[in-house]
Amino acid sequence: MRSVLTADQRDLRDEIRSFARERIEPRAADLDRREEYPAAILAELGERRFAGLTLPEEYGGRGEGLVELAVVIEELSAATMTVASALALHLGVATAIERLGTERQREEYLPAMARFETVGALGLSEENAGSEKLAMETTASRDSDEGSSADPRGADDSRDGDDWVLNGHKQWVTNFLDADVVLTYAKTGPDADAPHNVSAFLVPTDEFEVERVWETLGARSVKSPRVSLDGVRVSADALVGRVGEAYARRGEGAIGVNVPARGVGIARAALEDTVAHATDREQFGRRIGDFQGIRWKIGEMARRVDTARLLTLRAADRADRGMDVGRELSMAKIQATEAAVANANDAMQIHGGIGYTTERDVERYLRDARLLTIAGGPNELHRNALADAVLPDRAAE
Ligand SMILES: Cc1cc2nc3c(=O)[nH]c(=O)nc-3n(C[C@H](O)[C@H](O)[C@H](O)COP(=O)(O)OP(=O)(O)OC[C@H]3O[C@@H](n4cnc5c(N)ncnc54)[C@H](O)[C@@H]3O)c2cc1C
Repeated sequence: MRSVLTADQRDLRDEIRSFARERIEPRAADLDRREEYPAAILAELGERRFAGLTLPEEYGGRGEGLVELAVVIEELSAATMTVASALALHLGVATAIERLGTERQREEYLPAMARFETVGALGLSEENAGSEKLAMETTASRDSDEGSSADPRGADDSRDGDDWVLNGHKQWVTNFLDADVVLTYAKTGPDADAPHNVSAFLVPTDEFEVERVWETLGARSVKSPRVSLDGVRVSADALVGRVGEAYARRGEGAIGVNVPARGVGIARAALEDTVAHATDREQFGRRIGDFQGIRWKIGEMARRVDTARLLTLRAADRADRGMDVGRELSMAKIQATEAAVANANDAMQIHGGIGYTTERDVERYLRDARLLTIAGGPNELHRNALADAVLPDRAAE
């Protein structure tokens, strides 16, 4: 693995860092306080084609890899996690279209998605299908199957004129309120076929009913509501990939590296603010950064940032080289998201009372970071996946 970024990657990092410092940081606290979607910032990122960072250039993207994605997401998240989340979830939908969709879908969606003119949202989780996604209750059936017990598995995916009818709900659909289309996962086959019984459809947002928009601890400027589908009809063209294969192939593109990258960004921002504060603030006639207990804590914060970043870049680099990344991605996810929580928490302690107020950013970092050990698969599931990858398979013994 390359241990340092290439010159091009450093240029990209500098470009997005300047953008984040000039265009996002000054507005971050306000967006959070007003719970306002960062539409203007995302539109600017779209103009610069960051919304299509990893999409091929022929579809209007920048054609970059996952290392570049990790670099960009860290910088955005250091300014505010919500911009990074909104962009990453959107890019995840575009990546699914690019990898699994038809040429017609690529041409229709990707150039506008690369500019953030068409906005995507991911509809995978449900009320009873959080960690256990295959417990989803949303169904899609062929219009011709409605009222019959026909099994859609045998259907010819390319038949014209056959609509699909979707029923159910999706929960935690990030971006939904400002999105145009939801990549909606639905059961199209019996549970006996799991995981090959889930298909994905591009469903326009105006086909859903919004049931609930939660108030959340953090990530307040980008809402993730619960939405429902009641007999929504979409054409055969809305199907992304082959019938029954969407869940099994959802990991392709390994865009999941964006979650640890968001953690690295928050952990780093918390460290930088703490260094500035500990250097500036004096008590008992000395900088608080001169007290040994504080010095060790700050050293530990820096160690967390570097280990989180290295693990994240390793996972991204392996994915870029077409290698399996299950083990590396889980390690990075656990390390980086827990680093973000720990650093934001330490930052608040070292800031003292002012850190507990909205005059400083550290309370926002802590609220935002808390999401990351839950979303993108709770860390407990990543610990299970990691143990599976490390321990010998019992069945094979
Ligand atoms: C703000 C926000 C935005 C989100 N955005 C999206 C989105 O855009 N699209 C989307 O599809 N989903 C999204 N999600 C959903 C997210 O991926 C789920 O919340 C997550 O997968 C966990 O599901 P759950 O909340 O139902 O928790 P549950 O599955 O109920 O789990 C609760 C807890 O139980 C424990 N647990 C569960 N299973 C195990 C196990 N096997 N071993 C040990 N412990 C376990 C863990 O501690 C876990 O945190 C979002 C969630 C939030 C909160």
